[in-house]
Parts: sequence; structure tokens; C-alpha cells
Amino acid sequence: MVIDLNKCIGCQACTAACKSLWTDEPGQEYMLWNNVETKPGRGYPKDWEAKGAKSGWQGSRLQLGELHPPQDFGLPVRLNVEDVYFKGAGGQLAAAEPLTYGANWDEDTSSGEYPNNYHFYLPRLCNHCTKPACLEACPVRAIYKREQDGIVLVDQDKCQGFRQCNRACPYDKVYFNFVRGKSQKCIFCFPRLEQGVAPACARQCPGRLRFVGFLEDQGGPIAKLVYQWKVALPLHPEFGTGPNVYYVPPILPARFDADGDFDELEPRVPMEYLRYLFGPGVDAALATLHDEMERRQGGRASELMDLLIAKDWKSLFNIPDVKVY
Ligand code: SF4
Ligand code: SF4
Repeated sequence: MVIDLNKCIGCQACTAACKSLWTDEPGQEYMLWNNVETKPGRGYPKDWEAKGAKSGWQGSRLQLGELHPPQDFGLPVRLNVEDVYFKGAGGQLAAAEPLTYGANWDEDTSSGEYPNNYHFYLPRLCNHCTKPACLEACPVRAIYKREQDGIVLVDQDKCQGFRQCNRACPYDKVYFNFVRGKSQKCIFCFPRLEQGVAPACARQCPGRLRFVGFLEDQGGPIAKLVYQWKVALPLHPEFGTGPNVYYVPPILPARFDADGDFDELEPRVPMEYLRYLFGPGVDAALATLHDEMERRQGGRASELMDLLIAKDWKSLFNIPDVKVY
């Protein structure tokens, strides 16, 4: 999957589509296989990047991180619905207990100084890694990577609930179902894909910003964005798992200089932060995006801009026998 961060509006339609389709059973309340977090921010679960830096692959050695306490994901919120709506108590809906953290706790919180403050949205899901730390860590080999498409799955019959995958994944994208005693994670909507239908997060996205297809397919949009144009980059490549979800880095409006004029030289989001997220390739990726935007604005043709704009939604999906619903 390639996710173009310049088109994400943080609407959470992807999160809701995934949640309602796959994680509406007991024990799954806190799970968001797909979440969208505001960056810079602590994210979901809280401070997952700090744990990620201490887990996953450290060279050829697999490192197991600490498990997050449930509060880091945000506990399910109980509202006084019964009292207000059914028992005539009046008043307004409110949480029964004080809230301390949640999946979208720092939503829309900007960093930096006004008027050059900045934030952007980062959709996250399992990266269906080439070298999955979760798979390597499982002592009973309950996790496997499908030959035909690389999707990483947890065999629910084999899982014994050892939670080593929860500790190993540097992206914190395996969740534990405390009711069933099983680890569960994004399945890349494989039952839909097998019917030629795109994953729910991608199909429901009003921004038309998620491309789905095979990396090896040279004529497809994924190979073009990742290999040909090199504008789509993995998140935290230093974690060493070989993520297969790629991101087109964000370009925010130009900064203001001391006179209130646009300062085109320095990007609004500090390069240091973008390198932290997407690695050293982000400088060249942003330069290419700027060049191609200028070409297009100058009335010249740009294959890259046409690809990213995706006027025809089906151009996003290079799936065998893609269906139009
Ligand atoms: S993102 Fe985590 S859960 Fe997904 S394949 Fe990679 S290591 Fe496994
Ligand atoms: S549905 Fe699309 S635009 Fe909305 S938050 Fe998800 S990725 Fe962003």
C-alpha cells in the first residue's frame, strides 16, 4: 500500500470502516487495526515509537520490547447514556470516569510556533513486513506470511496467547484479545481482495489517497511511486522489518519569514523530523514532489502528479479483477 499524506484530511473514515468490519466483537473494543494519528504526537498506543526503537530487529538480532499497559491504548469510555436518555436524569452526556488517554488524544495539536506551527495526519496499519518481527517472535509459529500476496496473518487456532508478537512488533500493530486469549491484527482485508475488492480503509477513503497493488508489478502505481519516482517511503525503516506500507511525505504550506512573506527555502515541517519518520530518502522525495508540482502548475505534463491526483478511483487499485463497488 502507498499512502499519500498530502491528501489525508484526518476524517477517520478508514478507521471506522475497519473497526465496523473487523473489530466489533468482545475483547476487540480497544483495537484499531487502522488508526490515524496527528504527527508530531504521542500516537496510538501512547509513545509507540519509543517502544519501537527498542524492539524489532537490531541488526540480525530480534529484540522484544515491553508490553504497553491497557491505558496506553485508551480504555473504552463508558458514557452516562442510561441516566440521560432512559432514566430522566437530564444533563449532558459525560464519561463515567476521568479520561487520561485515547487513540486520538492529541488530534489536531500543532507543534512549533504560530504562525509557523505544523501538524499532519499519519494513517497506520500493519505493514505486512518482508521480515516480520511478529512472525519471528512467535514460539508456536502461529504467524505466517502468505506466499501469493505477502499478507501476514495470525492463525487463530494455533495462537496460544504468548504475546511475544505484541512485544516484538516495533509498530505496535498486533493486539491482544483478552476475551479470546489470542493475538489479532490487520488482515489486509484478504477476503475482499480475493473477490477483487480493495481493503475497506482504501475503498472508503474520501481523499483517494491509498494505492493498493503488488510492489513487483512494474507497470503498477506502487512500483512507480516506490521505485521509479522514489516518492513513497517506509515508516521508520530503521526498525528493520522491511515495511510494505509506504508514505508520500507531507508538504505543508510555506513558512512565513519575519516580514510575513513566504519563505520557500525552509519547509514548515522540520526536515529533521521528516528524516526521523521516513529516513534519509525524504529529502530527494520532497525535491521530486516540488519539481513535479511546479511542472504541473506551469501547464506542463507530469505523470507523477496525475498518478497522485487519481481522478479515476480505480487507478488506485492494481488488484486482479478489481470490482467497481
Ligand atoms: S507491522 Fe508488526 S505486526 Fe505487521 S507484519 Fe510488521 S512486525 Fe508484524
Ligand atoms: S479515510 Fe482517507 S482521508 Fe480520511 S483519515 Fe483515512 S486515510 Fe485520511
